[in-house]
Formats: sequence, C-alpha cells, structure tokens
Amino acid sequence: KSGFVALIGRPNVGKSTLLNQVLGQKIAIMSDKPQTTRNKIQGIYTTEKTQIVFLDTPGIHKPKSRLGDWMVKTARETFEEVDVILFLVDAKEGLGPGDRFIIEQLKNVKTPVFLVVNKIDQVHPDQLLPFIDRYRQLHHFAEVVPISALHGNNTPTLLNVIQDRL
Ligand code: GDP
Ligand code: MG
Repeated sequence: KSGFVALIGRPNVGKSTLLNQVLGQKIAIMSDKPQTTRNKIQGIYTTEKTQIVFLDTPGIHKPKSRLGDWMVKTARETFEEVDVILFLVDAKEGLGPGDRFIIEQLKNVKTPVFLVVNKIDQVHPDQLLPFIDRYRQLHHFAEVVPISALHGNNTPTLLNVIQDRL
C-alpha cells in the first residue's frame, strides 16, 4: 500500500515533532526555506508493506497577502489529491482562530480528515473529550486520534489508521 498524507495545523502544534517521531531524526530533514512548490515532500515512511508520503501544505495559515490567497487555493487542490489529511491540534491550547481558519479551508473537501490531538501528555484525560467535542461541532472527522508526538504515545496507532485508508 502507498499513499499521500497532507499534514496540516497551525504553527507549534507539533507537525515537525510528529514527523521526526514517525520517520526518525535522520530522515526528517526539513529545510525552512520559504515555500515555492505547492506539494513539498516532508518525508516518506517506508516499511516492507507500506509507503506513506507526508506532504506539507503551504498556505494553510491565515493569508496576509494576495500571494497568501493564491496559496490557500493551491492548498485546497492538494487536499483533493491526497488520500488522508491529518489536522494536528494542540490539546493544551484551546480551539483558536488559527484552527478555525484551517477548518474553514476543509469545508467541502471530500478527502477523509483525521483530527490528531497532540500533546496529550500535557493535559488531564478528563479534558480530552470536551476538547474533541468542540472540534467535532465544526467539522466531520473520519477519525480522531489522540497522540503525544514528542513521546510517541499512540503514534503507531496513527500510522495503522492511516494505512487502513490507503
Ligand atoms: P510545528 O510548528 O507544528 O512543526 O511544531 P513543532 O514540532 O516545532 O513543535 C512545537 C513545540 O511543541 C516544540 O517545543 C515541541 O517540542 C513541542 N511538542 C510537540 N509535540 C509535543 C508533545 O506531544 N508533547 C509536548 N509536551 N510537547 C510537544
Ligand atoms: Mg515545523
């Protein structure tokens, strides 16, 4: 099985940490150069059975310019082309404008979106369900997967759930 995954989420939710956790420090070499291509490959997870290509989606953040608007449009095109969209959110932070903006971009996208709730090591388990419910009121998520990207909690499960969709 092989497929493409778009990893989205506002800054500091843990996208790079997740890629490092999944791909290993040595493979997830990411340049911080400004985005010029629309589907930048962030890394490739490879096993004997599976290949998952993780893509960055430039322009998913709040647009500040006309260039930003253009990038939002290409981000939408990317969403239609991938097999799974991982929407990473921060369990410790509330649902903020950055998340709302991204959820708006996901409107009418047919690709399955997984809500990946990161940094669960930072919150009490009782806080998790109310946190998730707030997101669920705004969008239909194909899966909800709580993880700690930093410590690797539940990241193998996340990979399994992705593989089931390829
Ligand atoms: P990005 O901007 O989405 O790529 O976010 P980063 O991967 O750079 O992470 C931002 C910060 O959150 C860093 O200081 C990470 O160490 C921290 N972080 C990421 N994942 C976790 C997690 O699961 N638990 C905790 N406690 N911190 C995390
Ligand atoms: Mg990053």
